[in-house]
Amino acid sequence: MQAVSDREAITQSQAWFERAEKCIPGGVNSPVRAFKAVGGIPPFIKSAQGAYVVDEDDKRYIDYVGSWGPMILGHAHPKVISAVHEACERSLSFGAPCTVAVQLAEEICRRIPSIEKVRMVNSGTEATMSAIRLARAVTKRNKIVKFEGCYHGHADSLLVKAGSGALTFGVPSSPGVPTGTTSDTLSANFNDLDSVNVLFERSGGDIAAIIIEPMPGNMSMLSPDPGFLKGLRELCDQYSSLLIFDEVMTGFRVGPQGFQGFCDVRPDITTLGKIIGGGLPVGAFGGRSDLMDQLSPKGPVYQAGTLSGNPIAMAAGLATLNELQQPGCYENLQKTTQQLIEGILQIAQDSGVGLTANYHCGMFGLFFSQEEKVTRYEQVLACDQQMFRIFFHAMLKAGIYLAPSPFEAGFVSMAHGNDEIEQTLAAVECSLHEIAQLS
Ligand code: PMP
Repeated sequence: MQAVSDREAITQSQAWFERAEKCIPGGVNSPVRAFKAVGGIPPFIKSAQGAYVVDEDDKRYIDYVGSWGPMILGHAHPKVISAVHEACERSLSFGAPCTVAVQLAEEICRRIPSIEKVRMVNSGTEATMSAIRLARAVTKRNKIVKFEGCYHGHADSLLVKAGSGALTFGVPSSPGVPTGTTSDTLSANFNDLDSVNVLFERSGGDIAAIIIEPMPGNMSMLSPDPGFLKGLRELCDQYSSLLIFDEVMTGFRVGPQGFQGFCDVRPDITTLGKIIGGGLPVGAFGGRSDLMDQLSPKGPVYQAGTLSGNPIAMAAGLATLNELQQPGCYENLQKTTQQLIEGILQIAQDSGVGLTANYHCGMFGLFFSQEEKVTRYEQVLACDQQMFRIFFHAMLKAGIYLAPSPFEAGFVSMAHGNDEIEQTLAAVECSLHEIAQLS
């Protein structure tokens, strides 16, 4: 690979970004990619392999974005690529039933006990939007409860106090979303059961569902306090509301059954995406048969999609799930992430920079904060964003590609090994040293 100077790399990406800004709003097709939270020009990525992405100037980065979660096996995994090739040979889409969609659905139902039936869609946004429609239809109620800082895609009714890009840009709700659409969306505070109790005491009989990221990854990464998710389950049972776990990010990432495999709480409906498409556009929602059978054509709740369950995405997802059956793969992923995060925390401590972190299997969140532990949305907002910006750019320069916002989780893949972690830690050492000297 040809080595080029940083200046040339910036120039190439800059040229493309200028070109992009003329024909794509903000130059990007999803807001956080534009680097607004950190400043600068995003590198244009031309290829990726394993733990690495390569930009248009042949600069190689160790990647902790992983296409925002799907690439748990690493980029261009040979089994996934060959499954896609084989599927392509048979054509791209039929708009008719195909066997691979059934096989993927069977695998999802087999691995996640709360899912008896599953419907494929094309994105996480579609999955949550459809899950909410289903919950409203079966309960014959309109209100939903969501949590500040949790992001469930950009459907109108869910774009209230949302995380991810909506948080990065300080737009908790967006212009263009009619107040009528969000008037039935109630928000509570993550890890604060009292804030949910209040909503149920006031409007319990009108609440169709609680939707939650059980381990949020859109306000960086937080973990639920012990008993919090169980408390939500009990409230839903008490008021005959449904519990929706949005596992678009955590599904098959934090373990073979998603986060619900760890917390011993069974949701009524689960939404999935990212990993189940292996890098191609997919979402899904599933749950108990009696609920899912309310969907058209079996039931009256309408939901459809031209490309839903298309054979290419299904083949990529199925090949990915098959690889995730390798014995010990999640344990190894947990070890790699642990080595990375414990290493970062040690360096921070040694250099006197206030930094704390959360991690679970292949996901992590870093917080420039003096707090010992970050578990709440307000704590995430209070972190030092300027310090994050400096850190982010120092790391990027050193060839480490982190999510360009302090509100996004980081992702480690199964292709990250000792070499990548050591190289990353060496870059962290230099970056935090730079920060320590500034402060
Ligand atoms: N739910 C969660 C938890 C997500 O993290 C995301 C996207 N990051 C979505 C829903 C929306 O998925 P998509 O971007 O595929 O529409």
